[in-house]
Amino acid sequence: MATIKATCPTCGDVDLIPRQVRVRVVEAIEESASRRSYTFTCPTCDESIVKAADEDVVRLLTSAGVRAERIPVPAEAREVHHGGPIGYDDLLDLVLFLETHDLLSADMATSPGA
Ligand SMILES: [Zn+2]
Repeated sequence: MATIKATCPTCGDVDLIPRQVRVRVVEAIEESASRRSYTFTCPTCDESIVKAADEDVVRLLTSAGVRAERIPVPAEAREVHHGGPIGYDDLLDLVLFLETHDLLSADMATSPGA
């Protein structure tokens, strides 16, 4: 089993096994903006340590058997949007539209079996 050397800020270098380490990748729309880190509990002082990692460190740790947790970008964040954000005027327009258009009940009235 691979031994992973890590550094505790209090105790210095410590030896860990892959299941004592966790990698976390919080993906961003731009891959270069993704945040990567690894975490472990120091076997000497029991302190929980979190350290930033780059792609190479993530690749090295996962190839050694460390489990990686990936937090994906929500699909909505990758959608292409046009126009500005919804404002109060848009909401008021929607309310006025709904007051004069009841599409749901009109649709239900024409549905078979209704
Ligand atoms: Zn320590």
